[in-house]
Amino acid sequence: MSDPARGDVDAVARRLGRLRSRIRGAGGDDTVQIVAVTKGFGRWAVDVALELGLRRVGENYAQELLAKVDPARDVVGRGPEWHFIGRLQRNKVRTIAPYVALWQSVDRLRVGREIATRAPGAAVLVQLNLSGEEHKGGCDWEEAPELVGALGEEGLQVRGLMGVGPAGPAEAARTPFRRLVQLADELDLPIRSIGMSEDLEVAVEEGATMVRVGRELFGPRPTAG
Ligand SMILES: *Cc1c(COP(=O)(O)O)cnc(C)c1O
Repeated sequence: MSDPARGDVDAVARRLGRLRSRIRGAGGDDTVQIVAVTKGFGRWAVDVALELGLRRVGENYAQELLAKVDPARDVVGRGPEWHFIGRLQRNKVRTIAPYVALWQSVDRLRVGREIATRAPGAAVLVQLNLSGEEHKGGCDWEEAPELVGALGEEGLQVRGLMGVGPAGPAEAARTPFRRLVQLADELDLPIRSIGMSEDLEVAVEEGATMVRVGRELFGPRPTAG
């Protein structure tokens, strides 16, 4: 087991500095939580994130998460806090349940029930579909309050709402981000996970408590997933 390469750590450290100043520039403070999205990058990205004090690491695919979990290094209390942020398939929940600290992309009760079975009492976010694009996942606005209630009845801890802004100019995300934050207020949910590399400022301005950032930290993504 080797430590991450010095050059990688230095490069990501510089980008992290820039990311933090973007967050501050948008009116955010140190309480805005950064999830380092390592999808498409190798295990090195997880190790670099940890070395820089970024414990929260986001993955989209069960297979990729499993390939990156390293029992030798991921010591409880010092290892990464894995966040699952991709489309959830019910039949994959079991395989990753031992590792996932926050399920960010719960968008239907069937998946929630499976999580409640495999990881009783787990912390989850409800993902909203902000773009109207079916394939991006997320539940409809009208369904969200009921889903939040039903997941609670399954014994899950619903901590907040998550959303992916629409493709295109960052400004297009402002209205849906604002609406998500309002709904989180109404439902008394503390976590608002919105904002990625491209629409970070808009998300922070609208009240993000958590941003999910990949390319802005690790550089261009080498593969599609
Ligand atoms: C890939 C991804 C991100 C990070 O995207 P970047 O453009 O690399 O910052 C954040 N959230 C979700 C749901 C993603 O799939």
